[in-house]
Amino acid sequence: MPEGDTVWNTARVLQRALAGARLTGSEFRVPQLASTDLAGWTVRESASRGKHLLLRLTAAPAAGGADWTLHSHLRMDGAWRAYAPGERWAARPAHLIRVVLRSPGAVAVGYHLHELALIPTAEEGSLVGHLGPDLLGPDWDPDEAVRRLAAHPDETIGEALLDQRNLAGVGNLYKCEVLFLRGLSPWTPVRAVPDLAGTVTLAQRLLAANRGRWAQSTTGSLHRGQTSYVYGRRAQPCRRCGTAIRKEELGDRVTYWCPACQPDRS
Ligand SMILES: [Zn+2]
Repeated sequence: MPEGDTVWNTARVLQRALAGARLTGSEFRVPQLASTDLAGWTVRESASRGKHLLLRLTAAPAAGGADWTLHSHLRMDGAWRAYAPGERWAARPAHLIRVVLRSPGAVAVGYHLHELALIPTAEEGSLVGHLGPDLLGPDWDPDEAVRRLAAHPDETIGEALLDQRNLAGVGNLYKCEVLFLRGLSPWTPVRAVPDLAGTVTLAQRLLAANRGRWAQSTTGSLHRGQTSYVYGRRAQPCRRCGTAIRKEELGDRVTYWCPACQPDRS
């Protein structure tokens, strides 16, 4: 599931494949960019901001030479892959391809990307400026994340952790796992959470532990079926107390929790 760590990893793949390269061609399979040609443009860097990917480019001299950013969002199902020139693009079905960027050393292919847009780098804030502190960003600021969470005391902690305006990078998997590890019911109002700072710090540690690999584990085990405490484990016994894990809707997402380890304190 693309959460902040997956997007961070993806940014690193693109950085290694394309940073410093001059593109030899591009192909956009989305209507809003269908006529865009990035041949001759240089890739400055690839970065992530929460769940947003920012590929920063310098336009070809003939196109003005200015700094631009190709923005994409993976949501639930998007992906970027880097291939060697001539390698078969085997990661996903071809009909999911939304963009192809060619360079002398690598071909980057974006599958099922959302919110694909080419904007002046100076205007990145219009797309990511609303985000709270990035859990995996160089400027991660737990105090600011706590301040933003605390500003909405009546919201449930389950929904507040997913709200990227509070802190950027937590998706449903990490939300469920953090709440289990902190012994918090997902329905606990933010005002009743005893240690918000400890909660955001744990979220950051869990994401950071999965940087650099595609497998996501919050238990320390990478064995199939053992990578989470509650996420995806409906009706299976809690790893701590044996109670059946429950699954229910919370807002527009499902949540998993152990009713014994995470009692409702509201
Ligand atoms: Zn339990």
